[in-house]
Amino acid sequence: METRNSFVFDFDSTLVSIETLDTLIKQNLSGEDDRRKIDEITLRAMNGELDFSASLASRLRLSRAKTEDFAQMAARIEGFLTPGMDDILDFLARRGQKPFIVSGGFTQIVRPVAKLFGIPDEDCFANEYIADGNGCVVGVKEGPLAREGGKSEVLRALREQNRLPGTVVMLGDGMSDYQVYADGLADLFIGCGFHVARPNVRACSPVFVETTADLRQFLESLLNVQAQEGASSREPSSREPGPGGLGHPLIRSGPRSSRSRWCPWGL
Ligand SMILES: [Mg+2]
Repeated sequence: METRNSFVFDFDSTLVSIETLDTLIKQNLSGEDDRRKIDEITLRAMNGELDFSASLASRLRLSRAKTEDFAQMAARIEGFLTPGMDDILDFLARRGQKPFIVSGGFTQIVRPVAKLFGIPDEDCFANEYIADGNGCVVGVKEGPLAREGGKSEVLRALREQNRLPGTVVMLGDGMSDYQVYADGLADLFIGCGFHVARPNVRACSPVFVETTADLRQFLESLLNVQAQEGASSREPSSREPGPGGLGHPLIRSGPRSSRSRWCPWGL
């Protein structure tokens, strides 16, 4: 029987092709000036130059977004799914793997996608908005994902609750996703440059993929290596230690793996 591992997906620019909050906000902006400001805030946040909670608050302030805007985005989010991602989630399900979504986006938009992929609400983590009596979104509810380093907080809690089976693989396009791995809360990080390939993420990712086809191929070989490792560990005489414990040509040493020997399976 195959080992069950945890695959933790970022949402914006990973499972879907857009930054949902920015797309939603831009619909509400008429002036080029405001649009430019939002772009600048997003870019700085994504590059790790701006505190996450500060960027979220600034974007919400600029947007004057309403709860109905969130509902409309939720209704059409299916049209923004990253092509090939359904195949990857289907592949992971067939191999008995456990997917999670951890997002700095909003529950109202993330959950419909989780549902499509068969991921239950309890394995899906995102922010909740605060609305006033007129349906205007005026803020974000207090929670780990509204804070800097929130994804690591969520993963730490899941680990403490023994809810992350096997090896924990974090996947995403941003530095906040990489941070989970850097904080030692994921065993592997896969940088995803499907829609936007950030140079600093590419530089520190032990694995970086640009297409979902490449991701699919990598995940398949990763699970096959694990299955082989499992089989050979049952026959100790035939086992040969691979370089770094995994020997996959696409995995390279990063800042974290230079501190601790890279050995993802069977930790
Ligand atoms: Mg993202």
